Amino acid sequence: MRTLVYAANWKMHLPPGDARAFAATFLARTRPQEGRTYWFFPSAVSIEAASNALKGRPDIRVGAQNVHWEPKGAFTGATSIPLAKGAGATGALVGHSERRHVFGETDAETGRKVRALLEAGLTPMLCVGEKLSEREAQQTESVVTRQLRAGLENLSPADLARVLIAYEPVWAIGTGKNATPEDAAEVHRAIRGVLAKLGLGVRASVLYGGSVNKGNVHALVAQDEIDGVLVGGASLDPEGWSELVQL
Ligand code: PGA
Repeated sequence: MRTLVYAANWKMHLPPGDARAFAATFLARTRPQEGRTYWFFPSAVSIEAASNALKGRPDIRVGAQNVHWEPKGAFTGATSIPLAKGAGATGALVGHSERRHVFGETDAETGRKVRALLEAGLTPMLCVGEKLSEREAQQTESVVTRQLRAGLENLSPADLARVLIAYEPVWAIGTGKNATPEDAAEVHRAIRGVLAKLGLGVRASVLYGGSVNKGNVHALVAQDEIDGVLVGGASLDPEGWSELVQL
């Protein structure tokens, strides 16, 4: 049976008090279910509150939205992996489209972050996806291939097997437009092809993200190729999110 992953990306929302209240509602409204795991990616300042509030449930994990690859140093405003881990994070998003396209994160930086996370024993969730102009120019596959190679090349098969992938077309994030389940599944198949070439023998978890909501989640995860969802806007309301993950 495949495991479905429901990941909440809280972006720049939910301070510690709200994160604790969210966790209390989520715990009250959901029960562990075989074949489902949950990730929460709070803002760095709320990681500790969220992970403390959620630690009684082994099916729930908390991660950082971004990390620096250096373990410490003079990097004002950045969060190192040991800092995130000390606050309770067991993983991190890497290369989210807002990091790439708003903050200018490069492909090479995503590779350094993935490696640093794996060395520290944390789970990277590498995000890949094309911009609208790239999709229109039929470059979707070449863009995600480049991003996957930069993020994952030269990893051992054992390390590769620990990585989660999220395919998030940039044009679908926060826009209310989402890829059809069939379109997403087609890109997911291409991603699996690249992962196989990089040496990932076992089946990787490849999530879809971009305007996922209660109305479309079921059709997305019904696709055999889609192993879960990474959700921004629809993950901010505790009642709504608790419902969505059980649909
Ligand atoms: P969205 O964001 O669900 O609000 O489109 C998804 C993401 O950025 O991970």
